[in-house]
Amino acid sequence: MRMKLALFITVLAVPALLAQSPAIRIHAATVIDGTGKVVRNATVVVQGSKITAIETGTGSNATYDLGRLTVMPGMIDVHAHVAWHFDKDGRYAARPGTPAQEILYSAENAYVTLQAGFTTIQSPGSPSDVELRDAVARGVLPGPRILTSIRQLNERSGTPEEIRQKVRQLKSDGADVIKIFASASIRDGGKQTMTDEQLNAACGEARTLGIRTMVHAHSPESIKASVNAGCLQIEHGVFATDDVLKLMADKGVYFDPNVGVVLQNYLKNKEHYLGIGNYNEEGFAYMEKGLKLNADMIKRAVATPKLMMVMGTDAVAGAHGHNADEIVERVRQGNQQPMDAIIGATSLAAKSMNLDKTIGTLAPGYEADLVAVDGDPLTDITAVTRVAFVMKGGTVYKNVSAGSARASRSAP
Ligand SMILES: [Zn+2]
Repeated sequence: MRMKLALFITVLAVPALLAQSPAIRIHAATVIDGTGKVVRNATVVVQGSKITAIETGTGSNATYDLGRLTVMPGMIDVHAHVAWHFDKDGRYAARPGTPAQEILYSAENAYVTLQAGFTTIQSPGSPSDVELRDAVARGVLPGPRILTSIRQLNERSGTPEEIRQKVRQLKSDGADVIKIFASASIRDGGKQTMTDEQLNAACGEARTLGIRTMVHAHSPESIKASVNAGCLQIEHGVFATDDVLKLMADKGVYFDPNVGVVLQNYLKNKEHYLGIGNYNEEGFAYMEKGLKLNADMIKRAVATPKLMMVMGTDAVAGAHGHNADEIVERVRQGNQQPMDAIIGATSLAAKSMNLDKTIGTLAPGYEADLVAVDGDPLTDITAVTRVAFVMKGGTVYKNVSAGSARASRSAP
């Protein structure tokens, strides 16, 4: 009887084993887990879409032996405008082209972002993000996981009651986050634009519905008003004073300064933008000044105790694929510790998006979103810009490392 039962179990177990794909083992000299831990001579074991173990020891039975490379979680950009692009004439496409053109440019941006090691982005946002997000999630089109605000709220969004209604509508339209403009653009001086009542309505209603908020705010008063309205995350903050930096730290509000990509990209691509909207000589002069203001602000932000700084670039047309430059510049200009900068682009960024149980950390049970970079980013942060290997959800999207044991796996 016992024998029969054992046989029965064996027969049942065989199809289950066959159905399970073999584990993928990724070995590297160094594994940075995203929360501050470093494991040397380590192997990340992946089964299906998830990490099942991190083992130490040789890479002799590795599927991918990445040698001296450093493995870390797939990077996260909490502020990337994946739809922004230059048109066929090389001009910033302020007015949308055909829907087909728009979505293909977005797909291209998603692809180069993934190849640069970013496995999740938050787009603040464009209506076409919804289709792009869902297409990537179907698992065929290569791109990062995408979160989107779909649209934005600003001072023209109406009365407080109308704003509350718009927040409810955004949520039912599938927005992952509410994007709010509390201040003017840096090209227009960055002063507060929404009233305190409008901000209270936007962030208050979002809180009630359990949807997150991210606020574009440059001036100290617009940052203060947003924090007091219960908004959860502040973007940019070029004119942030020590007072408002401390206020964000005290209130547990995430801060996403953008010091390494966006202004540099605008200045580098000036001829592609100049003459469109507020991309005029005056606007570019503000952005030129913004470089110096940012360099000063980021040092003070890094020095502010307990300030939770997440990694966002504000990547626009021309900047996609250069996202990791932001990490480099926070270390270079802001004297941020490389490990803190990496945490800001991995586990802390995931936490800011309420995804800290699934991504941003290399540990058993997490999604297998990981990259390998050429060098040790803890001693040379520019290593994060040299991405040799990208896996998202257990699928390898890039492998230009020399030491792949089975290169045939490295599709597509
Ligand atoms: Zn932006």
